[in-house]
Amino acid sequence: MASEAIPVIYIDSVGHSGSTLLNLLIGGHPQVFSVGDFQLDNPKTMQRPCLCGATPFYTCPVWSSVDQILKDSAGLSLQNVGLNVSDRDEFRQHNLSIFKTIQDVTSRKYILESSKDIARCLRLAKEPDLFRVYPIFLKRYLPGVAASYKKKKRNLWDIYFHYNVRCFYHYKYRQFAACLVEYEDLCQAPVEIMRQIMRSTGLDFFDSQLKWDPLTRHNIGGNHMRLNRNNDIVPDNTWESLLTPGEKVCASIFGLPGTWIFRLARYLKK
Ligand SMILES: [Zn+2]
Repeated sequence: MASEAIPVIYIDSVGHSGSTLLNLLIGGHPQVFSVGDFQLDNPKTMQRPCLCGATPFYTCPVWSSVDQILKDSAGLSLQNVGLNVSDRDEFRQHNLSIFKTIQDVTSRKYILESSKDIARCLRLAKEPDLFRVYPIFLKRYLPGVAASYKKKKRNLWDIYFHYNVRCFYHYKYRQFAACLVEYEDLCQAPVEIMRQIMRSTGLDFFDSQLKWDPLTRHNIGGNHMRLNRNNDIVPDNTWESLLTPGEKVCASIFGLPGTWIFRLARYLKK
């Protein structure tokens, strides 16, 4: 008898859109295990910490168990697993092996991933016999995103462009999404929005999801959220002081097409 497809909740957004917060909230469900930013083919990811504090992440008890079982059962490891390998059979086998191992090690049914790679999300969804994918599309007000990129000294025109492209993709793939969420709505009405999100994935919402302890989580990356243990869900409005008046005007105007198309997608999906 064929085994049941593995449920995968996949958060897609541009960077700095609140995906770490959303990941912590969804990941608080007792049936969900969050892998976080799951880009194991990126050498930088392999050096990143686990949210539990272990650095690099694969030295933590959970990830080292996953690594050992992968080696014993499939001849793979966290270092050589091909999560995005181009060959379809290998893609299926490697992703299935690691997700199944994570399920076995953690005893959680759902995998939560926030690699923010829509191409990977679509590829997983094209294998419905193996994975049941629930894409959550997340969007934030563009000035908020731009301020985070400015802190990293990135070109703001690049983010204006990518923001609108990503919103267009969310429109294009709206029927395939489980839920389309705006970061500002999540901060304003976390219980209501989280109920909607969890319902879209077939899970119940628990109030305890709003109270997290990052040190009990094993997301890859997420260093910054480990420092924030006060469970405050308040919108990050530091963009108001970080952006110049000219940058605020530009980001507000250039964010309009993406915002409109994202809201249209959400409206049409209802
Ligand atoms: Zn850990």
